[in-house]
Amino acid sequence: MIKILPILLVVAYGLAMYRFSVWRTQRELDQRSTELADPVLSRLTDRMADALDLPRIRVHIYEIDPVNGLAAPDGRIFITRGFFRKYRNGEVTAEEMASVIAHELGHVALGHSRRRMIDFSGQNALRAVLVMVIGRFIPFIGPWIANAITALLAARLSRSDEYEADAYASALLMKSGLGTGPQKSLFRKLETLMGVRGAMPAWLLSHPKTDERIAAIEANEAKWLPA
Ligand SMILES: [Zn+2]
Repeated sequence: MIKILPILLVVAYGLAMYRFSVWRTQRELDQRSTELADPVLSRLTDRMADALDLPRIRVHIYEIDPVNGLAAPDGRIFITRGFFRKYRNGEVTAEEMASVIAHELGHVALGHSRRRMIDFSGQNALRAVLVMVIGRFIPFIGPWIANAITALLAARLSRSDEYEADAYASALLMKSGLGTGPQKSLFRKLETLMGVRGAMPAWLLSHPKTDERIAAIEANEAKWLPA
C-alpha cells in the first residue's frame, strides 16, 4: 500500500488537472465566442446539413488571431477570428471555409474531440505517471524517456485522427456537391499563406504533411467515385 500510494496520488493529481483543464477551455470558449452569421457560408453549411439530415450546422467564431479551426469536447465547432478574416479578405474562399467546417465536423462525429481533450490535458497526467514509474527503474534519463513516449503517443493519435477527419470531410463535401477541390486547394494555400514552417500555426504542424493529406484525399475519391 505504501508503495503504490505515491502512484495513486499522481493519478489523482492527473485527473484533477484534467478536469480543471476541460473546465477552463470550456469557459474560455464560452466567453470569447459568438455564433457565426455569414449568409454565403450559411448556404454552404445548410447544404452539408441537408446531406447529413440535420436541421442546421452551428459554427462559432473564436476571438483569437491564429488561423485555426477546432472542435470542442462538447461538439461545438469553432473557426478563429484570424481564419474568418482571411475569408473576408478573399484570401480563403467560402467553399474552403466549408471544408474546414466539414473537417471539424468529422472530429466531432468520429468522437475525436473528446479524446483530443484527453490528449492535451491528459498528456501531462500520463507524463507524470510515466516519469514516476520509469524513474524508479531508470534514474536520470527516466523523465526523458517518459516525455518521448508521451509525445510519440500523442503524435500518432493526432495523425490518424487527421486522416480520418479528412476522409469524413471529403465524403461530406462530395455528398453536398461541393467536391474535394476546396479541401485540397486550402491545404496548398495554407502552406503558402503561412510561408516558412516556423510561422505555421500549431494546428498545421501537428497535422500530417500537406502532400500526404492531398494524396490520401485523392485515393479516397478514386475509391468512392463511380468508374
Ligand atoms: Zn483536424
